[in-house]
Amino acid sequence: MPVRLTMNPRIAVGGIEHETCGFAAAPCSTSLEEFERYMLRGEALLRLGAANTIMDGFVKGVRRLGGEVVPLVWVKGISGGPASRATFDAITSELLDRLRQAMPVDGVLLSLHGSFAAAGIDDADGAVLAAVRELVGPDCPVMAVHDLHCNLTREMARSADVLVVERTYPHTDMAERAFHAADLMARTIVGEIRPRMAFRSLPLLWSAGKMITAESPMLDAVDKLHELDQQPGVLTASIGVGYQWIDSPVVGASTVVVTDGDAAFAEQCADELGQWAWDRRADWQSEPLTPQSAIARGEAAAAFPILLAEQGDNTGGGAPGDATQMLRLFVEQRLTPSAVLYMVDPETVTQAVDAGVGAEIDVHVGGKSQAEVGPPVPMKVRIRALSDGRFTYDGPMWAGVEGDLGPAAWLEQEDVHVVVISRRQQPVDLAFCRSLGLDCSRMRYLAVKSTGHFRSGFAPIAGSIFNVDTKSLLSHDFRQLPYTRLGRKMFPLQDDASID
Ligand SMILES: [Zn+2]
Repeated sequence: MPVRLTMNPRIAVGGIEHETCGFAAAPCSTSLEEFERYMLRGEALLRLGAANTIMDGFVKGVRRLGGEVVPLVWVKGISGGPASRATFDAITSELLDRLRQAMPVDGVLLSLHGSFAAAGIDDADGAVLAAVRELVGPDCPVMAVHDLHCNLTREMARSADVLVVERTYPHTDMAERAFHAADLMARTIVGEIRPRMAFRSLPLLWSAGKMITAESPMLDAVDKLHELDQQPGVLTASIGVGYQWIDSPVVGASTVVVTDGDAAFAEQCADELGQWAWDRRADWQSEPLTPQSAIARGEAAAAFPILLAEQGDNTGGGAPGDATQMLRLFVEQRLTPSAVLYMVDPETVTQAVDAGVGAEIDVHVGGKSQAEVGPPVPMKVRIRALSDGRFTYDGPMWAGVEGDLGPAAWLEQEDVHVVVISRRQQPVDLAFCRSLGLDCSRMRYLAVKSTGHFRSGFAPIAGSIFNVDTKSLLSHDFRQLPYTRLGRKMFPLQDDASID
């Protein structure tokens, strides 16, 4: 039962969200300009719509509980290379300056991705939390909500009273987890609870294909967390599955348990949860699958559309989004009707815009960012539709959030369809294709440059879903990643990795 605050405490709300890719990201560094594209300052934070985001959950949560929202700043960079030191300093200084001006506050709620790194700073989220703690002092509660793909650290746990991690993939519980954190904040401020947190880092690389909440084994992990929720004295429990595409000592899965006033019990629960995940370490690993094998399986089951998730070129995970193996397969094998969503190729978009809807043009699609993505695919396409790339996600993930893919075009060659866009972003739901007039459900083969979030809107229309390994940059075979700085033995890289 949520507590109702009666003394109208002032709760500062803000966030810095970036999933930093250290391997072959495009662009190589995430610029201040890119961060500023998704930035809300001060009062603008209060004008969020009914969107399923962490910030929206904070704002609504604090208000519903009777507190006053003190808006700081929220900034988000699309997953990509590390921020420069100057960019990191600029965005953190703004957050801290606004917090300093707002003080005194009764609590601080932050949305931090949990795998943010900047040049020379492996644990940028930890640095932000430490700076906030130093500013507000030891007695002001500081709580943060993180993406499921977080590399949580001891520094983060030391600087915060409560860390809450999303539990779903696709991330459909953002607002809900934020509301949960706001509730814990309210109960802490009125003295109803005294959070005591314990953190465990696990030397475990967790395959993205085994993080999907709708399926076992991830479903079992979520059930385990629900079980812990029911334990008397436990306030919140989380598993961070980690983000693996960066060469850093912070990489790895983790467990966090917060109890009411009992530090030893928190330690015991975090240990037990860590042991539970570790005992199942082999269950969290996926075998590589080629597109041809996936298509054969889908055909055998006659389960159409066959949805092929190009996880190695997942634009939302830091990949360039212009790898061409899948599109080439559709074109050369005449696998139709088929579609590729979305190919990041501003050059081809410009050609399409210049020619206009209905025109037929020769293009070389994708394959422009770097050699590893494969060469462009020569096509003679008809331009079916053009767009400025603006639309509204219809969820469940990001429901109500304004999307902006930059200028975009729907191209077709003999029932092979490709949507080319200008800004890196993964397909999450059907809203953008619908805005173009493209009916994804009539496709026999559908390739998406996404690992899990596409399920938000695409799972209901899919006959079968396969995460496939194509030639690109974000290998899901962890042994292929050029790690040099992990600093410890990790499973499955080393079988003798240990949690002791
Ligand atoms: Zn994530």
